[in-house]
Amino acid sequence: AINEAVVTFLSRSANEGFARTTAACFAAQLDPTLEEINDIKTAVSEGVTNCIVHAYPDRLGLVTMRLRLFGDNTLEIQIKDKGVGIPDVEQARRPMYTTGGEERSGMGFTIMESFMDLVKVRSTPGKGTAVTLRR
Ligand code: ATP
Ligand code: MG
Repeated sequence: AINEAVVTFLSRSANEGFARTTAACFAAQLDPTLEEINDIKTAVSEGVTNCIVHAYPDRLGLVTMRLRLFGDNTLEIQIKDKGVGIPDVEQARRPMYTTGGEERSGMGFTIMESFMDLVKVRSTPGKGTAVTLRR
């Protein structure tokens, strides 16, 4: 990578906005359009909200966001938690699949996929989840 930044924060809902803005600031060096910035913010928001809501359902935990910029102008954002993990990633990624009940629509991964070029999910139950976004 030609540039890199890493931030770690507590899984408080207030930090969803912090992560979204931080990612937008980092992406600014790509001289993006407003639309591109908004797409990145939306994807980060979905990824970080998942850590806050699902990874640590009944405690606060740490979320790490790593931002990397490559020489070909690719932006990579990794959002990582040490929470409960996802037993079946393929199932979790399906549109409208949710374990969040009535409050959730199960569209987070679908939104990330539609706004980014690549969404990679690595998860181990009991150990945590890493979501890598690229565009
Ligand atoms: P929405 O994002 O529309 O509010 P949702 O969060 O349930 O609803 P997705 O973001 O697509 O939908 O996630 C699907 C499911 O994957 C979640 O319901 C949850 O079971 C699981 N999941 C996603 N991210 C994590 C994570 N970081 N840790 C543990 N489970 C997760
Ligand atoms: Mg979600």
